[in-house]
Amino acid sequence: MIQTILHYSLHFGIPFFLAYIFYKNSWQKVFLILISTMLVDLDHLFADPIFQADRCSINFHPLHTYYAIFFYAVLLFFKKPYNIIGMGLLIHMLVDFIDCQLM
Ligand SMILES: [Zn+2]
Repeated sequence: MIQTILHYSLHFGIPFFLAYIFYKNSWQKVFLILISTMLVDLDHLFADPIFQADRCSINFHPLHTYYAIFFYAVLLFFKKPYNIIGMGLLIHMLVDFIDCQLM
């Protein structure tokens, strides 16, 4: 329960703080882009079962592999909004990774 709350407060909280601190003028837009990177969790639909509470996403789902994470890191070197998308994806992986450590 506590872990679930922590998970979602990190998923929303980190993007909010990053957007607010580094993109004061356009934080709403940046926040939306960061949040929309949660769509990578759509790769869970290919898994069987789709949802399993104590499964570690990292290196299980196709968009949560180290190869994918490497690609997200490369995105950081591109122009806006690609670098923001990359940042959001990396934050997502970090939060999922923290989750795995807590299991
Ligand atoms: Zn995920």
